[in-house]
Amino acid sequence: MSQTIMADVKKKEAEKKIKRIGVLTSGGDAPGMNAAIRSTVRIALYNGLAVSGIRRGYQGLIEADIDDMQIVDVGDIINRGGTKLLTARSEDFMTEVGQKRALDVLRMFEIDGLVVIGGDGSFKGAKRLWDMGFPTIGIPGTIDNDLAYTDLTLGFDTAVSTVVSAINNLRDTSSSHGRVSIVEVMGRHCGDIALFAGLAGGVEDILVPERKFDLDEVARKILQGRRRGKLHSIILIAEGVGKSYEIAERLEALIHQEVRVTVLGYLQRGGTPSVTDRILGAQFGQRAVELLLEDKFGRVVGIRDNKIMDMAIEEALNEPKRFDQDKYDLAEILSL
Ligand code: ATP
Repeated sequence: MSQTIMADVKKKEAEKKIKRIGVLTSGGDAPGMNAAIRSTVRIALYNGLAVSGIRRGYQGLIEADIDDMQIVDVGDIINRGGTKLLTARSEDFMTEVGQKRALDVLRMFEIDGLVVIGGDGSFKGAKRLWDMGFPTIGIPGTIDNDLAYTDLTLGFDTAVSTVVSAINNLRDTSSSHGRVSIVEVMGRHCGDIALFAGLAGGVEDILVPERKFDLDEVARKILQGRRRGKLHSIILIAEGVGKSYEIAERLEALIHQEVRVTVLGYLQRGGTPSVTDRILGAQFGQRAVELLLEDKFGRVVGIRDNKIMDMAIEEALNEPKRFDQDKYDLAEILSL
């Protein structure tokens, strides 16, 4: 490299606002978070930035649970669920005192930009930091897929596959016993896991918080299926719909047949991330670091129509969640 080019590179380095970035995972863990950490760390190092890994989300930030990260620190994690940086829900960070403390710690560790991997709560936290002037970027990491601005969040694809494989197993035993099964999956406000897994798993009915349900109609469908010789019925319920055991009791009274409930619970959070979640993690991490390098702050990355995109955190948080009625209708027709 000629001396002039070298001098130019050095000048650019010196001019760069962001010299060290921090990365943390917050809220519920999701498969693919590790892929995003790995990508964020390696893309940052590749671009000459230093990286601080912050453990246990905002709580770890407040408590200065922070270490330098090198290329080797993110080796052997792309295939693992959970998060290498651990995660937490932090009551302290919800307070102004906690947020100011977090800001002090970031300055103390000479961190100039922060990548937050988490769900909408974590994004609200990131927005607080940005409102206080700290350069922050959000990466959507939550199995619920409840962030409207992006078609997919990290972990959703893996969680859906986990539910589908549970449905496959249940199908075997339900057919053998001619049983009716209710499977409760995660989703307090957003029924995407139930919707996608129901469509892919070929279940008889899908109950989601976004749509009212009529239990008489559910019972009618089951009885109709039984008359046609259907060996089993599987009803998928998102947890936000109501209490599965109560719904099962009411359904039993209508169809005069035992209804078994399986609550998948935390099973849905774990497991080796799918190809989709690994690739998304890689791309989200890359874009997050690029934004910091381009001095574009207070933004979140996502994917829309197969393209990686970004938008202002505030705008993303205000976007109302759309329900995929087309998929819902399709599942209904196919379950006849
Ligand atoms: P998931 O939905 O997958 O569990 P999440 O990021 O939505 O992920 P939350 O528990 O809602 O999970 O949020 C994670 C953390 O983000 C909280 O424990 C808190 O520290 C911080 N946080 C949430 N809401 C706010 C807020 N309004 N202001 C500041 N910080 C917040």
